[in-house]
Amino acid sequence: MEKKKVIISACILGEYCRYDGKTKKINTVLEAYKDYEIIPFCPEAPLFGTPRERISVVEIAKKQRIIQDCTNKDVTEVLEEEINSFCMKFPNPDAIVLKSKSPSCGYNTTPVLDKHGDTLYTDSGIAAKIFSLKYPEVAILNELIFLDNK
Ligand code: SF4
Repeated sequence: MEKKKVIISACILGEYCRYDGKTKKINTVLEAYKDYEIIPFCPEAPLFGTPRERISVVEIAKKQRIIQDCTNKDVTEVLEEEINSFCMKFPNPDAIVLKSKSPSCGYNTTPVLDKHGDTLYTDSGIAAKIFSLKYPEVAILNELIFLDNK
């Protein structure tokens, strides 16, 4: 029988793909999905390398943009393309687990900043938003619930 598929943020799986070159491996997530086919997901590392400049969600003219902290470069469109092309490759996941607070992966946990770097409110990162639209039937979980259940 074909295995169910789960998309998981690659840093949770143990890949060293975070902006600072570190990982955030969470064994309880791996254990929870041990019978699934695991599809690693990280939109930032292939585009910007690892380690890389930090990026943030910034509200500009009432719209959320993804901005590189040091350079102020707007990387929203390139990230959108990367994420959309991932969704085309993996159209039917059964489950999704994303890293909280990330400007890409965070689901309802990502700080949205003003132009001075102060937090205005919390929302989802760009990938979590696109996943919500592309995979409306699939609940998006974040890794925190697996830590709470430890
Ligand atoms: S949170 Fe998402 S974008 Fe950031 S390192 Fe992890 S998988 Fe990559």
